[in-house]
Amino acid sequence: MKLAPCPLLVGGEWIVPKIPATPVYNPSTGEVIAECPAGGAAEVDAAVAAAHAAFPAWRDTPPVERARLFFKFRQLVEENFDLLCRTVSREHGKTHAEARGSVFRGLENIEYACGIPTLLFGDSLKNIARGVDCETINLPLGVCAGITPFNFPAMVPLWMFPTAIACGNTFVLKPSEKVPLSAVLLGQLLEQAGVPKGVFNIVHGGRAAVDALLTHPLVRAVSFVGSTPIAKHIWDTGTRHGKRVQANGGAKNYIVIMPDADVAKTVENLATAAFGCAGERCMAGSTALAVGAAAERVLPDLVKAARAIKVGPTDRPAQPDMGPVITAQHRARVESLVASGEREGAKVIADGRGVKVPDAPNGFYLGATVVDQVRPEMTIAREEVFGPVLNVMRMDDLDAAIEQANRSAFGNGAAIFTNNGRAAREFTMRVKAGMVGVNVGVPATMAMFPFTGWDDSFFGDLHIQGKESVQFYTQQKVVSSRWFGGEVGDVWKK
Ligand code: NAD
Repeated sequence: MKLAPCPLLVGGEWIVPKIPATPVYNPSTGEVIAECPAGGAAEVDAAVAAAHAAFPAWRDTPPVERARLFFKFRQLVEENFDLLCRTVSREHGKTHAEARGSVFRGLENIEYACGIPTLLFGDSLKNIARGVDCETINLPLGVCAGITPFNFPAMVPLWMFPTAIACGNTFVLKPSEKVPLSAVLLGQLLEQAGVPKGVFNIVHGGRAAVDALLTHPLVRAVSFVGSTPIAKHIWDTGTRHGKRVQANGGAKNYIVIMPDADVAKTVENLATAAFGCAGERCMAGSTALAVGAAAERVLPDLVKAARAIKVGPTDRPAQPDMGPVITAQHRARVESLVASGEREGAKVIADGRGVKVPDAPNGFYLGATVVDQVRPEMTIAREEVFGPVLNVMRMDDLDAAIEQANRSAFGNGAAIFTNNGRAAREFTMRVKAGMVGVNVGVPATMAMFPFTGWDDSFFGDLHIQGKESVQFYTQQKVVSSRWFGGEVGDVWKK
């Protein structure tokens, strides 16, 4: 099979360097579809130098012109929507519907960037002191870097570079080496939209490329999305080297089910939250906290729903309900976490391990799995599983459920299913998570709102998306001015 090209983009040139590379798989079939060059300090240095050289002219380009680039880019992404979604499905394994949903979320971030002229408005106050005026100006930083995970190959890069570049910065993207092809396609579309050379660059690779970006003296800011241990490393190293850093980490999201919750709607939402994108979502609902009679009311239908989920390849026209996980190693890790739960006393009531997919026997498949009677001290209760596995814990009341959710080291999302407004209000006020859903299973925020992870789910001050991202990618200057009279003559008196 012919491998897909996976070039770097440096200063407007697409380059395939003669360096070692890592395989990119189609998880639906287990086939290698591309070789991702493992860039290091030399490749990062070239990309950062190109971005640095392009910065002065791009900084001085009026915001309305920068916005126009993104209007054009938006149009091209829309025209190439199917190709982009197919690329996401092929290298990641998402179903077409999931790929479309995620690319659409990315598109909304491009639309947000189109509004940059008004988003960059500053404040002003005339006569702040006698004859003195004061105004804030929002200016770009310089070279910004983005480091992204495997689970949203197009959406997460689109969380970052449209706003960063629209603010007047130049950008170096380091996509996940497991899914570099969607990022390459985005780079080609941005090039077609007319981005000046060097304003957007792509470097591929893993740790060596990341560490070169984190320590490069010309990189001013780093946006990261990935697992918590790496997010901590990014934050520590980046800030130590004087950079602005926003680093999103992993998660373990709780969904509280009250006894009065609508059974059909709760089951439908819970199944989507836990098994959508094969559970490879930082906003996946990974643990259901069933309060009182909720477990008896909801579990039978939930188990039926889990067993009915058809798993299969996503790289062909007929679509399954759920695709594969990213690699064979990742599948083995998820399976071993489920086995650890069993050993520690939990009950697997829907078991997706060993699922057979006859038309794609070498794909990395795992069926929807429900693990009941999970207790807080179990490994599966504490670690992020990142697969199609839903834990169930039984809770006596809402207080106990909130207490359990708040014990988590993470703080990304949490949700409650109930018909009772007071229970919902109590939960939203007291739960320790940055994004909260009321009868919404995946309360991931859209482009105009920040993606507000807390605790071990986020390291930094200003979040990705929304106004916080504009603040992250700009620095403020406050100008105080006073004009003395006389020198211009007395023309206006006439
Ligand atoms: P990961 O942390 O393994 O990799 C993320 C990025 O870091 C990749 O570009 C990778 O090349 C790089 N990297 C990997 N190891 C590194 C190292 N030792 N040093 C420096 N860089 C390194 O994450 P992943 O497996 O690609 O993605 C899944 C994780 O991302 C999950 O934990 C998930 O919860 C998280 N995630 C979080 C959010 C969020 O917004 N909070 C969103 C999506 C995914």
